[in-house]
Amino acid sequence: MRRVSVFGSTGSIGVNTLDLLERQGGAGAFQVVALTGGRNVDLLASQARALRADIAVTAYEECLPALRAALHGSEIEAAAGPAALIEAAERPADWIMSAIVGAAALAPGYAALRHGTTLALANKESMVAAGPLFLEAARRHGARILPVDSEHSAVFQALHGEDMASVERVIITASGGAFRDWPMERIARATVAEASTHPNWAMGQRITIDSASMFNKGMELIEAKELFGLRPDQIEAVIHPESVIHALVGFRDGALMAHMGVPDMRHAIGYALNWPERAELPVKRLDLAALGSLSFRPADPVRYPALRLAREVMATGGLAGAVYNAAKEVALDGFIAGAIGFLDMAALVEQVLSDMSARQGLGNPATSLDEVLATDAEARALGRARIAGRHGAGRHDTSGLIPRGRI
Ligand code: NDP
Repeated sequence: MRRVSVFGSTGSIGVNTLDLLERQGGAGAFQVVALTGGRNVDLLASQARALRADIAVTAYEECLPALRAALHGSEIEAAAGPAALIEAAERPADWIMSAIVGAAALAPGYAALRHGTTLALANKESMVAAGPLFLEAARRHGARILPVDSEHSAVFQALHGEDMASVERVIITASGGAFRDWPMERIARATVAEASTHPNWAMGQRITIDSASMFNKGMELIEAKELFGLRPDQIEAVIHPESVIHALVGFRDGALMAHMGVPDMRHAIGYALNWPERAELPVKRLDLAALGSLSFRPADPVRYPALRLAREVMATGGLAGAVYNAAKEVALDGFIAGAIGFLDMAALVEQVLSDMSARQGLGNPATSLDEVLATDAEARALGRARIAGRHGAGRHDTSGLIPRGRI
């Protein structure tokens, strides 16, 4: 029986993954080794019971008593904390879904690869902050990384059976987010509520704002570079408001292979779960005639400084991705808290990248996950200090954030 674990099973990707596991036979078809969550212990316990998991792990020690109580009477083990997450990732399994949000996914994902386990990777931060380390661990331990982020799954599918040497370029599409049709002056004054409304679909607040600022797309460009071993100049972003094409791969003979489908993460999750085969999936089918037409426009780096910064990060390499991710998280916290304006987010990330570039070796490859996590912590501290330092300067006064230099 295939042994699977789902890290972040109580989140959006996790719940969709479990939906597919249930549809494909659930506990009768899979041996579920570990399910992990954070604070939503009731959901975690009911998932673990339904799939008869060996162990359920909450990320937080203080949630362990509630998890134990919810699992009372079952034979399912309960554990808590970062070390327990790593221990669960090291348990023998054939397939692990990495769907914890943020940098907390790095250590369990890395541990799984070092045990030779196939990692279905939804978590974007892993490739952005520690791509080369993850790839090296996979190579060394005979593990495989299967992309789950929809754009990267699309590229992965378009590359199936192709020789990487024949790939000329990869084009990642972007919806353009909440402000794709707004003038820049209005974007500068955008409120949290306005940035939290996605034109195409409902998602969590943080990812919706990341979509409006294009930090999400910036992360995806960096992720594509790492996952597929591309040069930065081979990766493009294009605004595609209908979000029907997820990504395209251009080959040296001029062919352009597009991956199309309705936006439903169960497609990419299902592809990774069943790879190299395709299983029947419960996703809506596209009706091209009803769709009528598709449109595209350039992703303007002036309107979207997050894309320009992502290009600088790709050019720098090494630990720059870890800084980009950490600084944009702090910037997002600051925007949501009302401490900085919408455009200040990119200015803050640029400033932290600039500050950190003074640090020796930002462009050198990370030698360990600890180094990545230390860089992440340092970038967060710098970002928070910059936000705190400009308190009293007025909400939309960006003078304290104007970058002094580039990385
Ligand atoms: P959610 O916020 O919905 O879920 C996150 C999961 O991580 C939950 O199980 C949560 O537990 C758990 N978690 C939260 N904090 C911690 C922590 N400190 N340590 C361990 N576990 C923790 O996120 P999504 O499912 O939306 O996204 C997961 C990842 O996949 C992200 O990296 C995201 O960028 C990426 N992704 C998501 C897509 C989407 O459509 N949602 C698309 C492509 C990529 P609990 O809820 O119990 O507290």
